[in-house]
Amino acid sequence: MTTVIDGNAVAADVREDVSAVVDTLTDAGVTPRLATVLMNDKQASETYVSMKQRDCEEVGIAAEDVRLDPDAPAEELFDTVSDLNDRDDVHGILVQDPTPDHVPDERVLSAVSPAKDVDGFHPENVGRLVAGNPRFKPCTPHGVQKLLESEGIDPAGKEVVVVGRSKIVGKPLANLLLQKGEGGNATVTVCHSRTDDLAAHTRRADVVVAAVGVPGLVDGDMLTEGTTVIDVGINRVDADTEKGYRLVGDVDFESAKAKADAITPVPGGVGPMTRAMLLYNTVKAASEIEDVPVDLP
Ligand code: NAD
Repeated sequence: MTTVIDGNAVAADVREDVSAVVDTLTDAGVTPRLATVLMNDKQASETYVSMKQRDCEEVGIAAEDVRLDPDAPAEELFDTVSDLNDRDDVHGILVQDPTPDHVPDERVLSAVSPAKDVDGFHPENVGRLVAGNPRFKPCTPHGVQKLLESEGIDPAGKEVVVVGRSKIVGKPLANLLLQKGEGGNATVTVCHSRTDDLAAHTRRADVVVAAVGVPGLVDGDMLTEGTTVIDVGINRVDADTEKGYRLVGDVDFESAKAKADAITPVPGGVGPMTRAMLLYNTVKAASEIEDVPVDLP
């Protein structure tokens, strides 16, 4: 029987851990606070920000919702972030992607103070992750690691194939999985758009993680019996639904499920974990900035 990994349930466990940490912080007189900064008018980004705000409120994290005109000069964003960096009551800062074309991406990533960079994308934090001493594990890769742990799948010694080499998922995940220590010690292969024979790699994997953005790219024919399949993809495909689309992953779920030992669904797999790990990183930031020891599993 294939296990369909319930990301919502694992995320609920993480939120419970986070709530307990919020209590510890509150007892010490600290209210953890996340500021989100939105500088675009895309519906999807607006929805993401609203969900993040709501998630915070549910676990007792104060959330601040900063909105900037997409046509405003880039300096307005950098001044806003600088003010948030300077504020003692703000512990986490997240600039919602994408920012407008006239705002240089690399500068955005470096603008947030590394101690408040709950996305984990600041070059200093990327460097620490690669060096094996992460401050914040980026939310989606950390969520994938937690899902594996929750299923009792120890990557140590296993062949893990990560499909996708993005800054936010593929690369940090590959780094986390190959690190020494718990949740790591895997033999990691990273495949990407220039990989010659993707199936040759996925077929010899114990664990396949797909983070590509191509609906159904990985199917059952590309897998060996007993593989664990983690589907990070979230793709809209046209469908006869109220919204006119439905969400699918990068894995062809039915054919992959027929081969897999365990598989994540879309929706309800990695997505809820990404949201939960942002809360995790926010309370971690608050505990470190305020020097309040907490127990974060
Ligand atoms: P990206 O576009 O930044 O990177 C995609 C990667 O896939 C690239 O490295 C590219 O080389 C690789 N790729 C493209 N075509 C390929 C092919 N045919 N074969 C092999 N590799 C190929 O994407 P991203 O930001 O990493 O996002 C990937 C997917 O994950 C998207 O569907 C995105 O919506 C989703 N996502 C989900 C979450 C979540 O919380 N579940 C979080 C982030 C991203």
